[in-house]
Amino acid sequence: MPTTPKRKILVTSALPYANGAIHLGHLVEYIQTDIWVRFQKMRGHECWYVCADDTHGTPIMLRAEKEGITPEALIARVHGEHTRDFAGFHVAFDNYHSTHSEETRFYANDIYAKLQAAGLIEVRAIEQFYDPVKAMFLPDRYIKGECPRCGAKDQYGDSCEVCGAAYAPTELKNPYSAVSGATPVRKASEHYFFKLSDPRCQDFLRRWTTGQLTPEPPLQPEAANKMQEWLGAEGENKLSDWDISRDAPYFGFEIPGAPGKFFYVWLDAPIGYFGSFRNLAARTPAIDAAAFTERGTDTELYHFIGKDILYFHALFWPAMLHHAGYRTPTRIFAHGFLTVDGQKMSKSRGTFITAESYLKQGLNPEWLRYYYAAKLNGSMEDIDLSLEDFIARVNSDLVGKYINIASRCTGFITKRFNGRLAPVDSPLLRDTRAAAATIAELYEAREYGKALREVMALADRANQFVNEHKPWELGKLEGDSLQQQVCSEAINLFRLLTLYLKPVLPRLAENVERFLNIAPLTWADADTLLAAGHVINDYRHLMTRIERRQVEALIAANRESLAPAASGGTGPSAGTVSSTHPPSRPSPSKGEGGESGALAPEITLDDFSKIDLRIARIAQAEHVEGADKLIRLTLDLGPLGTRQVFAGIKSAYDPAALTGRLTVMVANLAPRKMKFGLSEGMVLAASGEGPGLYLLEPDSGAQPGMRVK
Ligand SMILES: [Zn+2]
Repeated sequence: MPTTPKRKILVTSALPYANGAIHLGHLVEYIQTDIWVRFQKMRGHECWYVCADDTHGTPIMLRAEKEGITPEALIARVHGEHTRDFAGFHVAFDNYHSTHSEETRFYANDIYAKLQAAGLIEVRAIEQFYDPVKAMFLPDRYIKGECPRCGAKDQYGDSCEVCGAAYAPTELKNPYSAVSGATPVRKASEHYFFKLSDPRCQDFLRRWTTGQLTPEPPLQPEAANKMQEWLGAEGENKLSDWDISRDAPYFGFEIPGAPGKFFYVWLDAPIGYFGSFRNLAARTPAIDAAAFTERGTDTELYHFIGKDILYFHALFWPAMLHHAGYRTPTRIFAHGFLTVDGQKMSKSRGTFITAESYLKQGLNPEWLRYYYAAKLNGSMEDIDLSLEDFIARVNSDLVGKYINIASRCTGFITKRFNGRLAPVDSPLLRDTRAAAATIAELYEAREYGKALREVMALADRANQFVNEHKPWELGKLEGDSLQQQVCSEAINLFRLLTLYLKPVLPRLAENVERFLNIAPLTWADADTLLAAGHVINDYRHLMTRIERRQVEALIAANRESLAPAASGGTGPSAGTVSSTHPPSRPSPSKGEGGESGALAPEITLDDFSKIDLRIARIAQAEHVEGADKLIRLTLDLGPLGTRQVFAGIKSAYDPAALTGRLTVMVANLAPRKMKFGLSEGMVLAASGEGPGLYLLEPDSGAQPGMRVK
């Protein structure tokens, strides 16, 4: 095998928030990253994998208070739980640190000071809701009230769970603080902004996200497209400045020279990658830390993240780094979300499965690693954990195909030939060795599903070989050399398959290495075979089949154990199963008894005719920066001109697919001032109790501006 030059690689996974348990949704990312890192290490590269708990912000502060402990005690406990869960799934970080560390503070202060020196920090007063009882400013998700559109009670400050409307917290009727219940007041305070609207930032990001500044494009094509939507066309200035400060009381780092002001948790979270690495480097003489954070070196930096936090990693983070004089990421690898049996993870269905419960129920973590790997590719597509398929695939691929090769052949070698292997060579062995290059390319490109299909195709051929030669029928004569040879060839095939599976199944590979009596396998070992005369140890059982009852027990355990915890409120959102972080709002407590049940009170024809419904053509549909539910629509009403409407339909529609369509709008609704601009009406869409939202469309022939009666 041609030796590749030794690369120097720093890899991160997104930082989990220190406010909740690791669950199977999180694990998609850590397992994906861990496989990639193990592969790089097997290739002989210098590769460091760091991560940390994301520890700052209001949710941590309030939860610690509720538990009657300090935030430091809370994050120490959660750090222990997270470390235990990751180790249980063989996720092998070189360092798992905390953002609440001096290393992270060092980089936060340094980056901030450099941005300030570059004239990219601006201070201005903004008005926000303030809880007069708790004496604190309230993040949007800690304000509740009645939905301004449908009147539903107890809705969060950014959107309504009942009717789907999105709005600013200031629009809520009868708002109250979710912390103390007090009526919030409006209060002004000075905030610090990172000036993303500065032409320097816009220009840099436009070039960086499109790969004009780097040898390789730093983003996947679909991610790069998303960035272009957010950045807008050349000359368009769509990015607004980013509010990076929060007022005391806040658990975080106080901003130097700004008493009572703290860095917003999202500022120091990605900085925590560098903090964790610095902490590792301080106790690892082999690491030249500066070479990984400074510009112009030959090191590589990769971030694995969920697609929901692209905005922070592909815009804010590189802009911060670049303008503070640091290196920018080599590439950002975003992945999709996990669904279980085609649906969002759900506590009531028992599919919101924690890492801890999976291990406690005695399920093998490598089953899940294998299944995820079989489903993963290099795109941002969501992946589905189908429980039936999980059982079937692990049993058929791992136990039925792969393990089967060793379990059928090794006994003869140890019992009849003192463990001694015969010399072997064959076209099948040569093919299996030659596959190393293709499989390596697939791992490198994060096409794990394809890599495993290659490996299983080789396992099929190995089994075919064993079936054809039937070693159990050979060897009627003591010392039959054909039996020894067939079994030796099968064991060599098994060793090569183990090598290819090792990034995915590290523990199993270790056990195989022990029974084959060999040194830890590296990728270069695909070049070699076990020497004639090599002695193997007794075969020991490697992996059991999954029993359906084990999966059923797991679901039952999660259904029960999580029921009482569901009332919490600030835990990770059940729906958001990607990586990390303070979700933009707390776990939805699902509006029981929504709108679709009972009919609204009767109205007269006069009442109805007050509503001026018009046909509108969607002239333009765009994402709204910072709003995860809204699409900005420019509606053409023909002779009545155009209107701008913010519609909460992003969950169901891609803006690009809306342009040009006809729909129906309420044209005489009083305009509403929203956080993102003026909304001059409303489009009509149908929805029921489940997910799904269906925009109305007139029959063909209808023209923009026509009245609907
Ligand atoms: Zn509503």
